[in-house]
Amino acid sequence: IIDKGQPDHSVVTTCAYCGVGCSFKAEMKGDEVVRMMPYKDGGANEGHSCVKGRFAWGYATHQNRMLKPMLREKFTDPWREVSWDEAIDFTAKRFLEIQAKHGIGSIGGITSSRCTNEEVYVVQKMIRAAFHNNNVDTCARVCHSPTGYGLRQTFGTSAGTQDFKSVDKSDVILIIGANPTDAHPVFASRMKKRLRDGAKLIVIDPRRTDIVRSPHIEAQYHLPLLPGTNVAIFNAFAHVVVTEGLVKRDYVAERCDLEDFARWEKFISDPKNSPEALEAITGVLAADVRGAARLFATGGNGAIYYGLGVTEHSQGSTMVMAMANLAMATGNIGRDGVGVNPLRGQNNVQGSCDMGSFPHEFTGYRHVADNTVRDLFEKLWNVELDAEPGLRIPNMFNAAIEGTFKGLFVQGEDIAQSDPNTKHVNSALESLECLVVQDLFLNETAAFAHVFLPGTSFLEKDGTFTNAERRINRVRPVMAPKQGMQEWEVVARIATAMGYPMGYTTESEIMDEIARVTPTFAGVSFEKLDRLGSVQWPCNDAAPEGTPIMHIGKFVRGKGRFMVTEFVPTDERTNRFFPLILTTGRILSQYNVGAQTRRTANVAWHPEDVLEIHPHDAEERGIKDGAMVSLTSRVGAITLRAVIADRMPQGVVYTTFHHPVTGANVITTNNSDWATNCPEYKVTAVQVTVSNRP
Ligand code: SF4
Repeated sequence: IIDKGQPDHSVVTTCAYCGVGCSFKAEMKGDEVVRMMPYKDGGANEGHSCVKGRFAWGYATHQNRMLKPMLREKFTDPWREVSWDEAIDFTAKRFLEIQAKHGIGSIGGITSSRCTNEEVYVVQKMIRAAFHNNNVDTCARVCHSPTGYGLRQTFGTSAGTQDFKSVDKSDVILIIGANPTDAHPVFASRMKKRLRDGAKLIVIDPRRTDIVRSPHIEAQYHLPLLPGTNVAIFNAFAHVVVTEGLVKRDYVAERCDLEDFARWEKFISDPKNSPEALEAITGVLAADVRGAARLFATGGNGAIYYGLGVTEHSQGSTMVMAMANLAMATGNIGRDGVGVNPLRGQNNVQGSCDMGSFPHEFTGYRHVADNTVRDLFEKLWNVELDAEPGLRIPNMFNAAIEGTFKGLFVQGEDIAQSDPNTKHVNSALESLECLVVQDLFLNETAAFAHVFLPGTSFLEKDGTFTNAERRINRVRPVMAPKQGMQEWEVVARIATAMGYPMGYTTESEIMDEIARVTPTFAGVSFEKLDRLGSVQWPCNDAAPEGTPIMHIGKFVRGKGRFMVTEFVPTDERTNRFFPLILTTGRILSQYNVGAQTRRTANVAWHPEDVLEIHPHDAEERGIKDGAMVSLTSRVGAITLRAVIADRMPQGVVYTTFHHPVTGANVITTNNSDWATNCPEYKVTAVQVTVSNRP
């Protein structure tokens, strides 16, 4: 620990790691951070923090950080440092040339959930107004896009239903496909307090995660299902609720569409959805499923919390709807202590989706084909807008390989490392005529780039992040942009150079425009956020100080909609060559592909990705604890160290994806969610063998 002396001032800002969105006081000496102290008045964290927010901010001043714009004609050429003017002019000219040669739709961009709402808004506006197409997507495509789709279909809005505080009133907490202790530590502490105070716990996860058994906490049920069978197990839960007369009929009659309910009730009552019929598929004892379902339906306030173990499946969207069905059938939506709650991975996943980053939606999830909405944007932006939805990220990759997509702007995402099937992604990136990367570091994606635009860390940004509970938090700069310009200024200048003038002067002005065009943000301003600390959207005339809990009295879509959720097994099957299932996740000290945390002292706690394997599976293969192993799937192979772990079920192995040297996504497949194309990271058939590598 380096003693940096006594701070002389402090600035309240927001952590840029996970979707909890903790507030911190950056204690400063001049323009140097002395320490980050959790802020006691932070709406999401109330003075708590984890090892990432508290200690892992040093990447902002890491020696590898790039501070100069760079260009090269071909991605195999050496980089050349240039001025901002030259980089911006080059980018605009290249994109215009590509469009002249290959058509308006031959370029697009990807927004980042690491960036502020204001920065994301400006990128999607550049694409719609200066590129003249809707080829904009967000890195949320690969994590929570099924949440947006599934909750929209059933409840009418693409967001979690509760504030974090709501868990204090829960009687039964059901966690599925999430490991809050590692991935959302501050909220996990709040949840654990409630569990210690007497709430019951059901965990549905192939691994025995920490929360199943931790000090003074013992889950009533841990259901270690086989990866890929979420929908089956939730259908079995609902079957028990319906056939054992546990449906809250009064709630359903008052709040939900009864035709949809009748259709769903008939489907779910079918014996094929019983726990006994699905036991062989899920790998979970029918008696345990029955017991857990009864507990959830009759135990008082039941709240569902979920993570990427739900969404990153070929039936991710179906599963989100299955959870909504169960919550409605048991009357668990629209008050304190209940709800369907996505634990968002990145700091601004919610916000990047809210800001119009999907190729079919403007801000506030309004379809680009809606003439009234498009008219509003056309008048305000003074430009004609495309009514056709654009390309999603996987479609961009496919079109690049086919030769019809040639230019890509990537804001703060390492797609080469984080998207599935690395070989396929690299082929797409190689075939681009202009790849522009706006980032802090020369990441794996930048290896294929023609333009590198240095970005700003959260310590330099001015704007807002929206956390998992729809809370809009202020991000305040503690130092000037190290590379000389805010990211949104660079984007606005590219748009201007392409012929669409963007003349913002402050971030607050951008938020004011967002509020003008987005009904759920109509009451949001920097002035209000500074006065109240934070607000949860919807924030408008009907709720001037925000909305902690949604769907009280009435669903946003009017009547809640039950959806038929037929279980369809994934195409990714085991066989004698690939007999095990690989699933992936995160660890407490590291964050996603590690671009930031690997450049901090936190790396000491997790210097490499390892493969967790059940003792029996290890013994069968002659694998000793700590041995190097080859992990092979149908699309690739990697080498990593094995750790024998009895918290894994037999037949399932697990790894993290924080280190590029391991490259877990070399072996993940192109399978994806049927509705949103969210990749199926959580199910890959693999073989594990002892490696010759020392
Ligand atoms: Fe940051 Fe999440 Fe940790 Fe809070 S819980 S300090 S938001 S990483």
